[in-house]
Amino acid sequence: MPLASAPGEDRQMAITFDDLPAQRAQALPEERILKVNEGLLEALASEQIPAIGFVNENKLYVDGVLDPARVRLLELWSEAGLELGNHTFSHPDLHRVPLGEFMQDVIRGEQVTAALLASRGRALQYFRHPFLHTGLDLDTKLALEEFLTRRGYRVAPVTIDNSEWIFARAYDEALDQRDVALQDRLAGEYVDYMMRMVEFYEGQSRALFDREIPQILLLHANALNADYLGELVKSLRQRGYQFIDLDTALEDPAYSSDDTFTGPEGITWLHRWAITKDVDRSLFRGEPTTAVWVQEVAGIQE
Ligand SMILES: [Zn+2]
Repeated sequence: MPLASAPGEDRQMAITFDDLPAQRAQALPEERILKVNEGLLEALASEQIPAIGFVNENKLYVDGVLDPARVRLLELWSEAGLELGNHTFSHPDLHRVPLGEFMQDVIRGEQVTAALLASRGRALQYFRHPFLHTGLDLDTKLALEEFLTRRGYRVAPVTIDNSEWIFARAYDEALDQRDVALQDRLAGEYVDYMMRMVEFYEGQSRALFDREIPQILLLHANALNADYLGELVKSLRQRGYQFIDLDTALEDPAYSSDDTFTGPEGITWLHRWAITKDVDRSLFRGEPTTAVWVQEVAGIQE
């Protein structure tokens, strides 16, 4: 076991982006999708962050036809040395569709990405569950895990789950309204909120493992992060974070902890491990919430 590090020293984090090429791609103008990817790639390169992007390949199609410009965006991620993973074809909810149908969507979701990686001598090796839904019962959960293992995947866990997607929706609204003051206000609130969330999960890690494990942060490919990832990263560095890739994070023995959690919630793996160990759930209290005004701008209730 690694020595427990004092809080604030040697913190590590892997950053993951879901819903490539862009969250809500079907609702966005083409130019916005391009800007999201340019912004993210620019920030990741200038901050030298080894991220992974999880793809929904249905978002590569425009009017039913594979769009070379969108495929090109994935190539840019790969050319930048970033990792790509499968997030299913059409983002189905495992808790609402039959397992067989879900598995077919996994296979359909790997066609373009696997070929793209193979052309660079690499293999598709990570899977992220949509909504972090991993099964309502243990049979389904284990059957899917076995299926994923057989196809060469590792499940990509999340330790810092959050409502960044609500901020992102609000930010898209502010962009649509060309309301720069609102964009600024949302961005400031976003970074503050994320830092509170990071601090919360540092505490959850210490409570469960007596140390801070390498965290895995869930974000999405959206305009908010395209414009403000740099600010977020700056704040994280001030907390002592160094950025590592997902492979390295998963080498930590914490990620081999037993997880037999089943249920409707799409929750952090820290809580899955805690529930599996039958830890008192009062441990989970105090999770930061999203400011009501942000939810109102987004038109989403947390
Ligand atoms: Zn997703």
